[in-house]
Amino acid sequence: MAIRVFHDEIIRLRIAFALMVGALAFICMMLWRIQVARGHEFQQNLERQSIRRVRLPGLRGHIYDRNGEQLAANRPSHCIAIYLEELRQPGTWAKTVERIEGMVADLSDKLGIPPQLTRSEIEAHIKRRLPLPLLAWKDIDQQTLAKWAELASNTPGVDIYTEAVRIYPRGSTACHTLGYVGRATIAPDEGSYHYYLPEMAGKSGIERRFDALLRGEAGGQLMRVDVTGYRHHDAELEKLTREPRAGDDIWLTLDVKVQTLAEEALGDDPGAVVVMDPNNGDVLAIASTPGFNPNEFVPYISSSKWRQLVGDANKPLLNRAVAGAYPPGSTFKPVVAMAALENGKVSGNTHYECNGRMTLGNVVFRCAHGRAHGNIAMREAIARSCNVYFYHLGLACGHDAVSHMAAALGLGEKTGIDIDYEVPGLLPDEGWMRRMYGHGWSAGDTVNLSIGQGALTVTPLQMAVVTSALANGGIVYKPRLIMGLKAAEEEKFRAFPPQKVNDLKWSVERLSTVRNGLKDVIMSDHGTGRAAAVPGLVFAGKTGTAEYGRKDERKYRGWMIAYAPFEKPQYAIAMVVENADSGGSTVGPKLKKLLTQLFSPAEGKGEG
Ligand SMILES: [Zn+2]
Repeated sequence: MAIRVFHDEIIRLRIAFALMVGALAFICMMLWRIQVARGHEFQQNLERQSIRRVRLPGLRGHIYDRNGEQLAANRPSHCIAIYLEELRQPGTWAKTVERIEGMVADLSDKLGIPPQLTRSEIEAHIKRRLPLPLLAWKDIDQQTLAKWAELASNTPGVDIYTEAVRIYPRGSTACHTLGYVGRATIAPDEGSYHYYLPEMAGKSGIERRFDALLRGEAGGQLMRVDVTGYRHHDAELEKLTREPRAGDDIWLTLDVKVQTLAEEALGDDPGAVVVMDPNNGDVLAIASTPGFNPNEFVPYISSSKWRQLVGDANKPLLNRAVAGAYPPGSTFKPVVAMAALENGKVSGNTHYECNGRMTLGNVVFRCAHGRAHGNIAMREAIARSCNVYFYHLGLACGHDAVSHMAAALGLGEKTGIDIDYEVPGLLPDEGWMRRMYGHGWSAGDTVNLSIGQGALTVTPLQMAVVTSALANGGIVYKPRLIMGLKAAEEEKFRAFPPQKVNDLKWSVERLSTVRNGLKDVIMSDHGTGRAAAVPGLVFAGKTGTAEYGRKDERKYRGWMIAYAPFEKPQYAIAMVVENADSGGSTVGPKLKKLLTQLFSPAEGKGEG
C-alpha cells in the first residue's frame, strides 16, 4: 500500500516537472520573440519619440470691400531669430544661456537696438520650446533689417524669421464691423502637437464671426530632436511637412468710399450712421462713433490702452449702429402714416386740426414747441412733423395697426446682419405693458407710440431697413453685409445673395402721399429737415428728436432718415446723434455733408 502511494507521488512529480519545462520553454520563446523578432518595432518606437510635431497656422484670409479695397490683410513681420542647435555649448545649460546672452549683447551693439530678451525668457525657451527658433527681436524695421544683412554671413546660428501679422490698412475705418484679432488660445484637442507657433484669432466683428473661415486649416511640420532635446536637421523627415491651407477671403458689401464719407460726416459726436442700397439691401456703410484703431489690438492690446477704451464715457467699443437702441421719435411717423393708410381708416386727404395740443383725459400732449399747425392734411403734417396730427392718426387706426406695420418692417426684431451684439430694440405691446407696469394698453400709450416715443426703441440699422422700404415701395430686405467668399486657391467666388424678408406691396397712391411729405421735409420752406438740403439734389427725409434721461435735463437724441435721389433712390440712410439739440439742427448738417459728397460731380457719382 505504501509502495503504491510512493509510486503515485513519483508520477505526480514527473508531471509537475514536465509542466515546468514546458512553461520555461514558452517563456524563452516569448523572450526571443520580444527581443529579436519585435526588436525592429521597438527601435522604430524609440525613433518616433525623438520626432516633434509643430502646428503651422494657416495664413489668415483678407477682408475686402465691394470693390476689392483691402480692409484687413497680413503684413510680413521680420524677426531676428536664434537657432539654438547651432549655438549649443557642451556642459551645463547655463553655458548655452551665457553664449546666447553674449550673442544678443553683441548683436545689440552692432545693430544699435536695445536687447528685448531677458535671461529668464531664454531659460524658459530652452525649457519649453528648445527645437524652435528663439525670437530675439520681433518686428524689426527696414533700417535694422538692412544692417542685419551686412552682418548675416559672419553670424552663424542667427537668421531672419518672418511671420504674418494682421494689419488694418485703413485704421479705424469700419472698425466695429471688422473687429480685431488677438493671440489665439489653442484648445488641447486641436491635434496632438508638441509645439505651437503664435496664431491669431478673431476677437470681435467679422474677424470673430467668420474666424474659422478666415483661419483656414493648420498644417504640421515634423522635426527630429536628439537626446538632449536640440533640433537635429533631418531633410527627409522635414519633407513630410503638411502645408497649412490659407483662409478664405471675405468680400463685404461695404463701399469704403461711402464708409469713409459717412464716418467723416458723423464726426466725433457719439452716434451712428447706416447707408443701404434700397434696391437690394446691401449695406454700403455702417459706422458708429467714436471708434478705435484695430491695429492697436495686434498682437495684443496694452492693458493701459484697454483700460482707456473700456473706461471712456463715450464707449468707443460699443457698436451703436446695431447695439444702440433709441426711441425713433418722429422718424417713426412715416410708419404710422403707412399703417393708417393701409388700414383704410384714413386717406391722404384726411384733415386734422392742430391747435398746438391735444388733451386726453387730464393729460395734455403738446405739438412740437407748442406750435399750432391749423387744419392740415397728411403731406403737410409729415413735412411740419405735427405731433397732434399723428396723435389723431394713431388713435384713428389703433395701436394694433401701427404695431403690425412696425413689425412687418422688422422693428422689434434683430435684422440678422452678420455683426455681433445686435439688439432687437423694443416694440411694446399690451402683454409687455402688463408685465412691466401691471396695466394694459392705454390711449396715452397709443398717442406716445404715434410720435415714436414711449417704450418703443429701434436701432439705426433697423431704421435704414425701414427707410429702404419707403424708398423701394415696401420691400423689406435683410441687410446684406457679406457679398461673398473666395478660397485662396480657387478662382470661384461664392456669392451670398440678397434676401427679401417681406414684400408689403404698398399701394403706389398711398405711398406717394407719404413720399411727398418726406420730400417736403427737405425741399419745402416749411420742412423740418431743410438744414440737410443739398443744392441740385431732390431727395426725401424725416427728422426726429427724442427726449431721454430726466425731463428737467432736456437731453435729446437727434435723428434723420433719408433716401436719395427722390426718383430712383440709390441710398437709404439712417443717422442718429446721441446728444443733439434736435434732429433737424444737429443731424441735418451732417446728412447734408454726407449727401453732398456722395453726389458731388467730382466723384462722378451723380445726378446731383
Ligand atoms: Zn401741430
